[in-house]
Amino acid sequence: MGVEVKMEKGWVVGGGVVGLSVARELALRGVEVGLLEAGRIGGGASGAATGLLARPPVGRSAWMELRRSSWEIYPGFLAALAKEGGEAVPMLRCGALHLHREPPTNPGKLLGRWLDGGHRARWVGPAEIRKVICGYVGDAELALEVEEEGFVDPRSLLSALKAACLALGVAIEEDCGEVRFEAARGGGTTLRVGERRAEGIGNGTVAVVAAGWQSAMATVGLPPARLPLAPVQGEAIALSIPSPPLRIIRFEDDAGIGWQLAPTPDGTTWFGSIVSAEGTHGGRSEEGLDKLLRAARCLLPDVSRSDVVRHWAGVRPKAMRRGGPLLCRWPTLTGLWIATGHYRSGIICAPQSARLLVGAILDGEEVPASFDWDAGTRGG
Ligand SMILES: Cc1cc2nc3c(=O)[nH]c(=O)nc-3n(C[C@H](O)[C@H](O)[C@H](O)COP(=O)(O)OP(=O)(O)OC[C@H]3O[C@@H](n4cnc5c(N)ncnc54)[C@H](O)[C@@H]3O)c2cc1C
Repeated sequence: MGVEVKMEKGWVVGGGVVGLSVARELALRGVEVGLLEAGRIGGGASGAATGLLARPPVGRSAWMELRRSSWEIYPGFLAALAKEGGEAVPMLRCGALHLHREPPTNPGKLLGRWLDGGHRARWVGPAEIRKVICGYVGDAELALEVEEEGFVDPRSLLSALKAACLALGVAIEEDCGEVRFEAARGGGTTLRVGERRAEGIGNGTVAVVAAGWQSAMATVGLPPARLPLAPVQGEAIALSIPSPPLRIIRFEDDAGIGWQLAPTPDGTTWFGSIVSAEGTHGGRSEEGLDKLLRAARCLLPDVSRSDVVRHWAGVRPKAMRRGGPLLCRWPTLTGLWIATGHYRSGIICAPQSARLLVGAILDGEEVPASFDWDAGTRGG
């Protein structure tokens, strides 16, 4: 990857957690940044996330390494945001219980994967499970307790990121409608805002497409092909229950679908998140609420609709090829970069992804090849 010419101006398209993190990182490096958001900051997947932060066990892929290093930098990242923009984001480091209905074939080996990855983890039995989940009626006899998991409220995070960006001089434009890109003569790109405004990309100006699942639409028609992205809807609820769990609880239902229950700093308990069929309407549904309540009752039999204080939905950007998010330069056009496809891990990965991408843009640093546009095959 070659070193870019001196950067004077950076455009970031999309005001979710990824776009804001990239804008902040560019501004920290002295670049003049404009962030263009079609609607309101946090109006996409980021504002709908459940805010779980998890450090994965040992594993060699760049994607796992990205999530692991993201966990490590998170406290420092939040401290920096508070300093820059004046807004503190509480991070609940409550750890998690991963419930197992059947004992795994080799519990020692499974635990070893976590310990080898530097986690504090151990197996616990039914008495411990019932201490963590008051009123638990499920049939899990064994759980893996992992300390390195936590929670941030994505709404506080977005607000703090926006405040930090503004304090660093990022010019944020909300409600500017859907920005789109067109190939220009000479290998450059034109960024279009509405019918009248056009900005040239290339020659010391870069643009980063961070428009979540809609990044494919913003760049449709650019050579060589459409971005490999799919929208995947999700839903979640906040419950007001007398005894929230003491840790994040991860479990699978009879159909093998994974669910998470999380305590939060405001005392509500968040439960999610459905991976519904691929789709883009992003709206919450009665069917989704029923599914969530049915799954929640696997742990807490008395939960009812009257305990639901909030129900929300969003559309995750899923990269449709193996290897993790799309963090790379546009292969055929000068000055155009991509930062999307974080699927279910954008809240935790955004700060580290932004560092990687801005290191590549400004210093020519290597980003793992598996984050390239054409790495691997369909799968994500
Ligand atoms: C229910 C649910 C639960 C989740 N839980 C977690 C979790 O616990 N932990 C975790 O790490 N992640 C979680 N995620 C995933 C996480 O939310 C996403 O990976 C992350 O928010 C993606 O951020 P983004 O900035 O790429 O996209 P978005 O947040 O979608 O931001 C993209 C922005 O671009 C704007 N935009 C789109 N098109 C254009 C255009 N043409 N011009 C200008 N602007 C445009 C949109 O309006 C939007 O604001 C969850 C997601 C969902 C839906």
